[in-house]
Amino acid sequence: MRSTILDGKLVAKEIENNVRERVYDYEDNYDDSITLATIIVGDNKASKTYVKMKSKACRRVGIRTREYSLPEFTTEGLITLIQMLNEDPEINGILIQHPLPKTIDEQKCFDVIATEKDVDGLSSHSFGKMSFKEESFGAATPKGIINILDFYNIKLEGKKVCVVGRSQILGKPMALMLLNRDATVTVCHSKTKNLKDEIKSSDIVIAALGKPEYIKKDWLKEGVILIDAGYNYVNGKSVGDAENPEGIASFYTPVPGGVGPVTIATLLENTITAAEKQKELIQTKEIKGKQYIKGEVK
Ligand code: NAP
Repeated sequence: MRSTILDGKLVAKEIENNVRERVYDYEDNYDDSITLATIIVGDNKASKTYVKMKSKACRRVGIRTREYSLPEFTTEGLITLIQMLNEDPEINGILIQHPLPKTIDEQKCFDVIATEKDVDGLSSHSFGKMSFKEESFGAATPKGIINILDFYNIKLEGKKVCVVGRSQILGKPMALMLLNRDATVTVCHSKTKNLKDEIKSSDIVIAALGKPEYIKKDWLKEGVILIDAGYNYVNGKSVGDAENPEGIASFYTPVPGGVGPVTIATLLENTITAAEKQKELIQTKEIKGKQYIKGEVK
């Protein structure tokens, strides 16, 4: 079978071009700029690299960043910082780079992020809204995967999808997003007994388990669509969570150059959307306020 590569760099470029135009329009319309706050706690090298890449991407589209790199911090300290950023009118989006050190209560911190600034969709409120199919910012990696599938016009309705991994930032929101698109979703994890069979019977497989090339090529059904979210560094080379499925898959994302670039572009997309919505909200409040004052005068 001839396999087609789902080119993440191409998808990311399209998203970035669109975001750049929206940022120009925003600046023109509101005479204001857009700022994303990024927070790293601890000394995780990979986190530092990811935030650097995200900041660089922000600059490419005209979004400013305010970076907080905190060597050590408590849950309470982080909550105070997030509350300050929630109140800061210059900040449109808040990104906490995960993983946080084990000493910090991660979800407690994510839950403090104001929903309208939660551009990585990590709070329980954002997640809950998504589960009710309400508008919310989805976590950037799974939403990026949806962006890739949409870009290549891959329909999800009625498809049997196997998501391997159930993390809060990837597997679980991915499953919800797919369910919201009418796919039939199976979520597998480390205790799943028949992983190979689940994968073999699926039209689409999302690999998100964090183990280099764990999913073998011969576990896949002929013609499958394989989305590999994995990113592992082995012997000086980046590899995914699945073996390269060339010849078996109809479509697949490469590693590198697949899900990674689209994750970053999707974060930018969420940030401009957040900024636009915040302005709309202010305008609506102003209009409502005027109506109220008018009502009082009568
Ligand atoms: P994680 O938090 O470590 O979660 C891994 C998940 O995989 C867990 O749910 C775990 O199950 C499951 N798992 C582990 N071993 C398994 C096995 N043998 N069979 C089936 N399931 C298994 O990882 P993550 O943060 O979701 O990341 C997953 C992958 O995506 C990693 O390779 C990471 O580098 C990559 N990633 C990429 C991006 C990007 O932008 N491209 C962003 C984030 C993550 P249990 O729940 O039972 O432990």
